[in-house]
Amino acid sequence: MNRRVRRIFLTGMLAVLMAALAFTALLSVLQLSALRGGLRAVLSAASAWTADSTGDLNTLAKDIARSAPPLRVTFLLPEGIVLADSEEDPRDMLGFILGPEVERALKEGSGERLSLDGGPFSPVLDMAGLVSGRLVLRLRYPLSGALRPLLFSLLTLPLLILLLMLWQRRSFLKLQRELDSQLCLVRELLEGAGDQDSPAPEAFFPEIRPAIVEILRLIDRMRDDLEQIRKTRDMRREFIANASHGLKNPLTAILGFAEMLQEGAADTPEKQAEYLHAIRQEGQRMMAVIKDILLLEKAEEAPADLEEISLAGVAGEVAESLLPQFRKKGVRITIQGETTLPARREDIRALLDSLMGNAVRYNREGGQVEVRLEPGRLTVQDNGIGIAPEHVPLIFEPFYRVESDGQNSAPGTGLGLSIAANIAHKYGGTIHVDSVPGEGSVFTVSFVRSV
Ligand code: ADP
Repeated sequence: MNRRVRRIFLTGMLAVLMAALAFTALLSVLQLSALRGGLRAVLSAASAWTADSTGDLNTLAKDIARSAPPLRVTFLLPEGIVLADSEEDPRDMLGFILGPEVERALKEGSGERLSLDGGPFSPVLDMAGLVSGRLVLRLRYPLSGALRPLLFSLLTLPLLILLLMLWQRRSFLKLQRELDSQLCLVRELLEGAGDQDSPAPEAFFPEIRPAIVEILRLIDRMRDDLEQIRKTRDMRREFIANASHGLKNPLTAILGFAEMLQEGAADTPEKQAEYLHAIRQEGQRMMAVIKDILLLEKAEEAPADLEEISLAGVAGEVAESLLPQFRKKGVRITIQGETTLPARREDIRALLDSLMGNAVRYNREGGQVEVRLEPGRLTVQDNGIGIAPEHVPLIFEPFYRVESDGQNSAPGTGLGLSIAANIAHKYGGTIHVDSVPGEGSVFTVSFVRSV
């Protein structure tokens, strides 16, 4: 780019130089031709003047010369002998002039010559004409004055161009350095997008500002995406660690009991039954974790094959399946209202399973569960143990379980509310809990797309 801009500038400068020279040359040519016209007029009028002033050619020469300084006027005989001159006395001169212009004047009546007789920078125009039969009038006009602008331009314009180029080089280099540093800033931002603050668009040249604003916007988006990717990666790692932990514990217990049975540690049928029961329970725990992991995976899938689901219908089914637990704790359940939702049946089932299952498990003896269904909203309220405020923001995280004495004797995987939250989000809804420890909890799911 640098070279290109310089080339363009140089071409421009040369064009200006050529134009200026051509213009000055044109002016000089015009001036020269006007001068020629003037001298010719003097030559043609000279016959009359010489006739009038016979005998005093010197005075006439001086008079003519005075009319157009720095004109020099000389009267000659055809042999070149000077009769009169406007500047010198013919007696002091060599007294002999026979230039080509005089020769031509003798042959053709008039002649002219452009020469450097006055010096290398002082051209002169000589014009001669035959007047009064044998008298030759020679006019010499030094052109240094007329051609001065041209000479001046020839000398000064290249110098001016050189100075302009030096100035251009300086200012262009400054501009280039500034542009370089601006682009460098963008490159640094792109390379280390996570570590720097974005500069203000005003820090860039207005010509590149729109592009920079767009780049900064993309960098911001890239940062957000990177942050999201990091978060997702961390969550995956955490999930895998928690899932392994959730499966390892029951598996260790199972292996422990199996080993003890193998080594004959259970010496009575009661002990054997006790160990086998424990193995079965731990196996069920493992199965529950695996089942919930699969449900969680499914809950993250994009919704497909939707049908209009009656939430009251599904809530009734869930209540029936939980009947043994309700009965065991003496908890009463009521389902009020109705609403429908375009969804997958298994998703609504998993959502209500989780919320209603928890409402029984974390309830007290003889407690109550109320499921309320209204358009766009589903509420599951219990008057159980409630949740302490510090746990509330965490209970929707996978594998998070509130650890408190006796409470988590209720079997669980810590995945139920994550499944419920994922399903709510999947259908454009939100999940929210209001809870008072010792008094109970209200879980509310709001669906945007309700019917
Ligand atoms: P799990 O019930 O399998 O432990 P969840 O994800 O369903 O896992 O619940 C996370 C935690 O939230 C539970 O361990 C429990 O402490 C608390 N919790 C959930 N529902 C209720 C509720 N209705 N009342 C009190 N605590 C609850």
